[in-house]
Order: sequence, then structure tokens, then C-alpha cells
Amino acid sequence: MHDAAAPGTVAPWRATVLTLYPEMFPGPLGLSLSGDALARGAWSLEARNIRAHGLGRHRSVDDTPAGGGAGMVLRCDVLAAAIDAATPEPDHRPRLLMSPRGTPLTQARVRALSAGPGAVIVCGRFEGVDERVIAGRGLEEVSIGDYVLSGGEIAALVLIDACVRLLPGVMGKPQSGVEESFEGGRLEYPHYTRPRDWEGRAIPDVLMGGNHAAIARWRAERSLALTRARRPDLLTEREDP
Ligand code: SAH
Repeated sequence: MHDAAAPGTVAPWRATVLTLYPEMFPGPLGLSLSGDALARGAWSLEARNIRAHGLGRHRSVDDTPAGGGAGMVLRCDVLAAAIDAATPEPDHRPRLLMSPRGTPLTQARVRALSAGPGAVIVCGRFEGVDERVIAGRGLEEVSIGDYVLSGGEIAALVLIDACVRLLPGVMGKPQSGVEESFEGGRLEYPHYTRPRDWEGRAIPDVLMGGNHAAIARWRAERSLALTRARRPDLLTEREDP
């Protein structure tokens, strides 16, 4: 229903987050560029409480791990009920589970997600979720890095922030998204602004000279050198000489 935009308009990018802590949203995304864009309807955010589908008088959502061990596991039946209630057909958005075991999030994936209709994002807690709901509801596991958070909420905020800033009209100039780190497999060149001299450190002369070709060359060189030094894994075979 919500996927169909009126003719000539674009449906706003839509995030639905399933969480035990809906109060964490929009959180920092309610401020600055993402907050302004949210307020004017360029994207939307719905945080739904998994506990609304909890069982019994205590609305229980978790149980002890089969086979024993520490911690608690989010129940598959509870999570599936929450997902089903949040996505009445038809809903073509990708369903993501924030998870340290997931595919590492990249700028390319962020771009693809941002170009789509939005995302349904499940936030784990405790030891994680019952494995069966991942296959049963077609969840794609996404990680924001090789470290363990206490819950998926901050990871979801990271993913949504990265997507929303790429939506048309959210960032000041469209160009500022094109030369950034990871675009074209490079880290970005260094930035400077006034004052020209600061504590004995001057802005490189080439940036003050007004020769745009020379500036572009300098930036490309710095970008390549930084990438070689810090993230050689990003460099493709198409590397410039
Ligand atoms: N026992 C799990 C970690 C659970 S952490 C393991 O060892 O893999 C609890 C929840 O935090 C996870 O279910 C997930 O939703 C979220 N989370 C933790 N680290 C994350 C990361 N690097 N990326 C995305 N989500 C993460």
C-alpha cells in the first residue's frame, strides 16, 4: 500500500524498526540534516515495540538457550509476530537483522538501500535471536563492524543515518556525496579551511592558488596515497598510475 506513490511523486524512504527499546528512535536522527529531512517528510521512521507481541501477562519475549549456556534468546514466534504485524502485504522493502555475524555494511550497500523503498530492521538483544526466524522471515544479517554491541538499535541508527544522508535533497550539495570516502574505492583527500596559518601549520599552497586542475590532481594524489597507506584493501585493479 505504502509502496505506491501518487503519479509524479516519489514515495518517501521508509524505515520500520523492530526493537525492545522504541524510545531510542529517532534519537540522534531527529537532529541536524536527518532530523530536518524527517520533519519535512523526505523519509519516515516507525519504531515498533517487539514486546507488544510478547507472551503472557509479562509479555515475555525471550527464553533460555536450547542446549544451555549463558544469556537469553529472543523467541522466534514473538519476533515473527512482530515482523508480520509490521509488514502487511505488499511490502517490498528488504528485511534486515542487525547482527555481528552479518555481511559487513559498505557504502555500496548503503547506496543500494538508499535508492530503494526503505528497510525493515530487526534489532537483536541479549545473546541474539532464535536462528529459525532468520530463514522463516527471510532476514538478511547485516553487521556494522567487527565488535559486539549490546543491542541492534545503535547499529540500526548507523545504517539509517548512512542511507538517509544520501536521499535527494538531504545533504546541502549533491556533489558532496560523490567525492567522499569509499566512493570510487578511495578514502577522501584532506580538507582545510580558514585560518590560512594555524600554529605554524599552513594550508597547502596548491589549494590557495586557484588552479582547479592542479587542485583536482593534488586531491586525487592525496586520496590515493591515504588509501594506500591506511586501506590498501580498498584499491581496485583500476588503480591510477
Ligand atoms: N551473542 C551474539 C552477540 C549478541 S549482541 C554473538 O556473539 O554473535 C546483541 C545484539 O546486538 C545482536 O543480536 C545484534 O542485533 C546487535 N549487534 C551486536 N553487535 C553488532 C554489530 N557489530 N553489528 C550489528 N548488530 C550488532
